[in-house]
Amino acid sequence: MELLDYIKASVLLEKYGIKSIRSSYVSTPEEAIKFAGEKNIVLKLLSSKALHKSKAGLVKVGLFDEKHIRSAFGDLVNKGKELKPYKIVAQEMSFGGIEVIIGSNIDQQFGKMVLIGLGGIYVESFKDTSLRICPITRQDAQDMVDQLKSRDVITHGGKSRDMIVGLILKVAKLVQENDISELDLNPVIIRENGYDVVDIRILK
Ligand code: ADP
Ligand code: MG
Repeated sequence: MELLDYIKASVLLEKYGIKSIRSSYVSTPEEAIKFAGEKNIVLKLLSSKALHKSKAGLVKVGLFDEKHIRSAFGDLVNKGKELKPYKIVAQEMSFGGIEVIIGSNIDQQFGKMVLIGLGGIYVESFKDTSLRICPITRQDAQDMVDQLKSRDVITHGGKSRDMIVGLILKVAKLVQENDISELDLNPVIIRENGYDVVDIRILK
């Protein structure tokens, strides 16, 4: 299995109408500062040797000035010595949403599956997920959302339900039409009327 390059993965998502947050590889602090402009950014170190980036201190959120960007960048380069080859990606910072996971893998018996659940740090502690075998209908995707214990939180009392259902359908179509063995969008940060995909992992 081969991990798809982050930017290539975001281009693939885009083809299916799933927009991921603005991201770019940076190789110097200056490039990161230029990328940030007036905005808050996140810097991450991507390496196949570190799959849980935040646990390894490889996700630097809420960077808002040159000084912070430089020191975060320096820290990542330091940690990267043990993790070569790696890339550093700069991302816009997403604010004020609920973290959801939308994923897919292949079940030995049933084939490709899609999953939705409460994401980010809650995935493991709450285990609030629902899944279906592909292909799925819109009704299936709606049921997946409605079955979650956290549905009211995730859908902002129903307001973002259609948007989430749409995302599930797009992910299901993407995995069905491509040679993909695993996909994780974790998290997709869901707001009442918008979302940001901030972490993508696709295994071919
Ligand atoms: P990993 O899952 O490998 O630990 P993530 O890229 O998912 O790394 O980042 C970990 C956490 O950091 C996310 O769950 C989220 O809370 C936060 N985070 C990451 N990227 C962003 C971003 N662009 N905007 C806001 N928060 C982010
Ligand atoms: Mg993640």
